[in-house]
Amino acid sequence: MNLRIPGPTPCPEDVLQAGAQQMIDHRGPEFKDMIGRIHSGLQTAFQTKNQIAILTASGTGAMEGAIINTLSPGDRVLSISIGVFGDRFSQIAEAYGVDVVKLPTEYGDAADPEEIGKALKADATIKAVLITHNETSTGITNDLAAIAKVVREYDRLTLVDAISSVGCIPVEMDAWDLDVVVTGSQKGFMVPPGLAFAAVGPRAIEAAKTATIPRFYFEFSRAFSYYDQGQTPWTPAVSVMFSLDLALKKMMADGMGAVYEKHARIANDVRNGVKKLGLELFPNNEKYASDTVTAVKVPEGVELSALRGKLRSDREVIVAGGQGSLSGKIFRVGHMGHITDDDVDDVMASLRSVLPELGYTVPA
Ligand SMILES: *Cc1c(COP(=O)(O)O)cnc(C)c1O
Repeated sequence: MNLRIPGPTPCPEDVLQAGAQQMIDHRGPEFKDMIGRIHSGLQTAFQTKNQIAILTASGTGAMEGAIINTLSPGDRVLSISIGVFGDRFSQIAEAYGVDVVKLPTEYGDAADPEEIGKALKADATIKAVLITHNETSTGITNDLAAIAKVVREYDRLTLVDAISSVGCIPVEMDAWDLDVVVTGSQKGFMVPPGLAFAAVGPRAIEAAKTATIPRFYFEFSRAFSYYDQGQTPWTPAVSVMFSLDLALKKMMADGMGAVYEKHARIANDVRNGVKKLGLELFPNNEKYASDTVTAVKVPEGVELSALRGKLRSDREVIVAGGQGSLSGKIFRVGHMGHITDDDVDDVMASLRSVLPELGYTVPA
């Protein structure tokens, strides 16, 4: 099966096998060594010297952590949403009584740093900016470096959902001076779901001291206080950590530069392949097209459910549909983490064989 959804992503066989090891004492010396290695690997993936909370949750748990550790009910934030996951970040904040100001962007576009600057200039009470680095629902990567620079100019906190970019597309937490950056194990890390990571900078640590949203399980300072003993406060997903330990080792052996290059090259091949089939990319400006997930417009006259069904039944290729208002209008091909050139070729050959059966003529 060629699982080409944007997470959970396929895992290398040895990474899966690593997860099948016998349990160890999560308060013992082997665990202490492992969490030390994992933490240091994660710091490399996030390009940071900051501490990173390792949470047993999916990525959304770490998004929630970013909000509840830095904000108080009634605090005002600017939410920059360019798709479904940006909307989710807003919803979490709203659920905790945060006053969310929205900067709407049309689905298909990237966020405009200049507009963000204007919104921050106009409202000095905005304490933090919620931003999605790579919007998985539309296949668009925001210019996070430029956005973070603007947010710094106005001295607010930058809270980043980088769930579908860390470990695939450069995220330079320290160089870009980001405050909280979160991701999950099942996207770029080639590891099964179960762990979420939140890298926390000094301004966010400071903000946590006065932030009054109630919190317990996801309290970052509690996670950090246990690192001194090489532990997590609660029983972690030990099996997923075994897998992550090996996956990080493989990523570090390749080097982050090579990992980024591979994602850029594969994504370029996917975009070119799709265009060769006469299909149109969903992003309005290809410059912002994501290197981890490609969103493609469903061609006129083709029923998406039939296309996905045929890809699955005839070719064992699994692609994702559109979410929310994009349901039925786009399909998405995931290409983050563990992927080969053959996997890409297989997706293109499968589209080429299946589309004509659904009434679409592939150009010669
Ligand atoms: C997958 C994803 C999420 C949600 O992560 P879960 O692990 O499913 O909770 C949030 N934001 C982005 C950008 C994602 O790609």
